[in-house]
Amino acid sequence: MRPMSEASNTNRSNLDSINKKSRRKSNVSNGVDDTLSLYVHFPFCSRICGYCDFHKELFDRRKEMLYFQALAVDTEIAAREVTAKRKKAAKIVLESIYIGGGTPSLASPKLFSAWVAQLKELFEFADDLEFTVEVNPESANAENLAVFQQNGVNRLSVGVQSFNTASLKTLDRRHKVEDTLRVFYTARASGIDNISADLIFGLPDQTLHQLHHDITELLDLEPSHISYYQLTVKDNTPLARDVETGKLRLPDNDTMAVFYRAGSDCFADNGFERYEVSSFAKDGARSRHNKRYWSNQPYLALGPGAHGYNGEHRYSLVSDTEKYVSSLLNDNRRPLMWDRLTEHDRMLEDIMLALRTTDGLEISRFRKLHSRSPEEIFNSDEYHNLLDNGHLEISKGRLRLSDDGLALADEIIARLTL
Ligand code: SF4
Repeated sequence: MRPMSEASNTNRSNLDSINKKSRRKSNVSNGVDDTLSLYVHFPFCSRICGYCDFHKELFDRRKEMLYFQALAVDTEIAAREVTAKRKKAAKIVLESIYIGGGTPSLASPKLFSAWVAQLKELFEFADDLEFTVEVNPESANAENLAVFQQNGVNRLSVGVQSFNTASLKTLDRRHKVEDTLRVFYTARASGIDNISADLIFGLPDQTLHQLHHDITELLDLEPSHISYYQLTVKDNTPLARDVETGKLRLPDNDTMAVFYRAGSDCFADNGFERYEVSSFAKDGARSRHNKRYWSNQPYLALGPGAHGYNGEHRYSLVSDTEKYVSSLLNDNRRPLMWDRLTEHDRMLEDIMLALRTTDGLEISRFRKLHSRSPEEIFNSDEYHNLLDNGHLEISKGRLRLSDDGLALADEIIARLTL
């Protein structure tokens, strides 16, 4: 994606004019007027993991209090902006809320509850709202899980990552394997049954045997959804330095492919449907929030480092908690940076997001939105080669990657859109 550009002091008017254009364009197929999803970033962690490049900092009660004060202002301004130009008097309906981080399970139950109460004043919650909170096993407990549940949280995303004690240590994760077991039982006892688990493969010196152990342990806990990620080395992280200096060794690409396939097969054998490259769900447990991202529909973002999309352009809030707090509490201004997408960017994003899903790209919808067919965007030679070798297929009006193609999704999409 192109680099974000710093928003000027015309943020507010930019947002207004962009919203006008969005509404003229389609609307409502993209849902700006009636429904929205919301992502909120909670930026604090009790320990900083060496592989992480998310916006986060060490937890501090005083900073958390300022964060929640700023979040209240952020929420209020954002709600006012998205509702200002609507003709309908009814509130916008939130279809999904996702609190990510950072480690949201560190949040003060009292401050969290007060923020949800504010949110309910400003928005309507859909009857079938999907409300997810990311939790880390060491900081999720009976008290905060009960408070989440009382506030309408009905889905947890648990940062399991591994069941191997040495790997957890290498990743700098704070939790122990028993914390992971406990969080599943405690969540269910608190009335939250819909539990997604993050599992990482391709850990330093990981063997296939260790990976099978991780997968088996996870399946025993019966999550409804699994996000299965390859460990990637992000620039300027301690992990990148350790890999560079040879202190840590990651599996090679062929081994990574074997690991991905091993996970996919085990999940399929145990009743999970792969519906996106890294996402596996039991019946009915697909993430509705993520679906909204992948189908390029608008979502509102709140919190430092959060990314949002208004139906036409992407934006992010400043990745600096202190600046975030200062901008909202001192200047009453959302510290936004806009990524102004061209029509070509939007077409590429639609393609890229849709081809990572097993539903694929709906060709007629693409044509309607962009007045061009996807074929016109693709590198023609690559496109025909991929159709010929079966990595890409067209059926029932959709263009999608085959089973083998999905394992190579990033590479194939890059080749197609060269
Ligand atoms: S807990 Fe999550 S957000 Fe926090 S440092 Fe570790 S990986 Fe990053």
